Amino acid sequence: KKRRALTAPEYVEGVLRGDRVILSRAITLVESTRKQDRLLAEEVLEKLMPHTGGSLRVGVTGVPGVGKSTFLESFGMFLAKKEKSLAVLTIDPSSQKTKGSILGDKTRMEILANEPLAYIRPSPSGKSLGGVHEKTRETMLLCEAAGFDVVLIETVGVGQSEVAVEGMVDFFLLLMLAGAGDELQGIKRGIMEIADALVITKADGDNVTKSEMARRQYQNALHLFPPNETEWYPKVLKCSSLEETGMKEIWDVIMEFEEHMRSRGFLQSKRSDQSLRWLRESLNNHLLERFYEDEQMRYLLSDVEKAVSKNQVPVSAGVRRLIDAFAGQ
Ligand code: GDP
Repeated sequence: KKRRALTAPEYVEGVLRGDRVILSRAITLVESTRKQDRLLAEEVLEKLMPHTGGSLRVGVTGVPGVGKSTFLESFGMFLAKKEKSLAVLTIDPSSQKTKGSILGDKTRMEILANEPLAYIRPSPSGKSLGGVHEKTRETMLLCEAAGFDVVLIETVGVGQSEVAVEGMVDFFLLLMLAGAGDELQGIKRGIMEIADALVITKADGDNVTKSEMARRQYQNALHLFPPNETEWYPKVLKCSSLEETGMKEIWDVIMEFEEHMRSRGFLQSKRSDQSLRWLRESLNNHLLERFYEDEQMRYLLSDVEKAVSKNQVPVSAGVRRLIDAFAGQ
């Protein structure tokens, strides 16, 4: 049965009211690649912009198996007990094709899913990772307009996505396993440096001593990194999602960070820097898309390619011909 299409004011009013059904439909709308949906989505987002920015944006990453979904459930329930409403957005680029069906069957965050203060939304699928990230940002804005206190964005530790998520959140949390070795965890250099806090997971049972040792080691290692201009020193904590320990400490560090950043004016500047970077990235993506989707450009490109491969035209001249033709349209 086809649902009645909503108008822009209906979307706006519904999202602002915190209506979950309309919020979900608004997210589906921003995820759509149909031209008329895009236009409607832009209209809705523009109207909602003044109502965004009110949530604390937290990114959570770590390799598969580190305990992300268990952590999000436990941490999410902790927040809900503190009367904080939260939205959990997940980006799992690896699950889109291959593991999709398997992970989809696995019930993730079952308890949190039944918590009225929590809203869980899995990642949109998309042909390009850039497109997925763009939609995640827009989804985050919709959730903010819906009034959630905290937006948690989960991503799998595969590299590109963490950097993108770090570019859209206030606080970036890296989950790590004790004693697994950095390489084994796929922790690329640089990821540790962009984390605002590291959390050693599964600090329970036989793992307690090992986790505390790992915690100290990472804390010492982090001291070797030069601080950035915000002078925030990343903290290293440990937790057990199963035993629900360490959640308060993690929340306290996030609060301390927020206060640190806000009182120095860094929270606003970080967010506007992020928006400007997003603008450039999005512009670059869309320009490329326009270019390669243009039929005339494709013909011209194939001509230029032939000429270049036969050494008839230098690359620079070929590029100029293409750009001139594109700009002259
Ligand atoms: P993800 O792939 O990072 O989302 O990891 P999951 O949350 O699915 O957890 C992977 C495995 O680790 C599961 O078998 C969990 O039961 C287990 N796990 C997660 N958190 C904890 C914890 O705090 N303690 C222990 N002992 N096991 C945990």
